[in-house]
Amino acid sequence: MVEPSQEQFGDRQGGGENASLSSPKSLPEFQRVFPNEDACRAYLYRARFPDGFLCSYCGDTGEPYRFRNRPDRLRCRSCKRDAQLTASTIMQGSQLPLCTWFWGAFLVTSLTPGMSALQFQKMLGIGRYEPAFNMLHKLRAAMVRPQRDRIGGQWPVEVDETFVGGATQGEGRGRHHKTLVAGIVEVRPRKRAPGPDPNLPSGQRPQHRGGHGRGFIAGRLRLQVIPNRKQETLEPFVLANVKQRTEVRTDGWTGYDNLEKLGYLHKAVSLRGDHAMTDQHLPMIHIVFGNLDAWLLGTHHGVSPKHLQGYLNEFVFRFNRRFWPLVAFASVLRIGAQVEAPTYTALYDGSWEHPGGKAG
Ligand SMILES: [Zn+2]
Repeated sequence: MVEPSQEQFGDRQGGGENASLSSPKSLPEFQRVFPNEDACRAYLYRARFPDGFLCSYCGDTGEPYRFRNRPDRLRCRSCKRDAQLTASTIMQGSQLPLCTWFWGAFLVTSLTPGMSALQFQKMLGIGRYEPAFNMLHKLRAAMVRPQRDRIGGQWPVEVDETFVGGATQGEGRGRHHKTLVAGIVEVRPRKRAPGPDPNLPSGQRPQHRGGHGRGFIAGRLRLQVIPNRKQETLEPFVLANVKQRTEVRTDGWTGYDNLEKLGYLHKAVSLRGDHAMTDQHLPMIHIVFGNLDAWLLGTHHGVSPKHLQGYLNEFVFRFNRRFWPLVAFASVLRIGAQVEAPTYTALYDGSWEHPGGKAG
């Protein structure tokens, strides 16, 4: 269930090699599977060309020429033009070895809370902070599948907004960066889930009465930075992320007034700031918001608004794969082989539009 991200996909490259992209389950296995650049290169090739080589110039699908002393170069047998193995991937133009990227993907997908850029830099032995920060953000760009599914359908969803963030480290007291985030989470019967929800702190269970008895669990999640709580902001967010005819649970905020007309089964409750009622009606999304806040502060010590969507993408990626952590490594590299990442400049001046950051 949940995301098709766990699907293994076929591979016709290399004459009878194992057809799937695997995720190593431990450090010794990682060391065995990825001992050197060649091994990483072969994996990246399979991730980028799951159906075999495809020349981006002429469309030829014949196995490309390779060069012993320029192993990243692939030359089309038909038009003789060259392509870099990392072109149009998150690793494009990187000065770092592929092995470092693979270690990075393994670390960031294996550790339950993820890593700060500083921890990341130290673990990978990268000399400066910026390349480590940059790599982490590029890996986050690989945490949103292009054309991902809308959620809901047979499962109700809870929709709400929250302010996240606060004082950013090093900026002193009183300086705040509160950013508005909208969230949607599916409410699924627990019996369909394999075991307890590891996303919740140990022992914590959604406490619900009324319509949400025990036995429900959070399904897929979507989070997005939004500029305001207006109807014209919230409606496109719901439309882009939730299937029509889904039961959509919200508070009584007027921004959601029109959902019925947009084709949803709208269940609104006026909560009037009553926490008990809030937890009854929207228990899942409030637990998510609480965990998100704790993660942003605890692991990352606060996040600046212009980078927040990247962190939300990482949080959602891990949340939606929390029952299948071992597929996350392959997912990051598979998506990372298919999408481009922000340039260093775009990342720092904030002009890069994070995937998942568009409402429409
Ligand atoms: Zn060609």
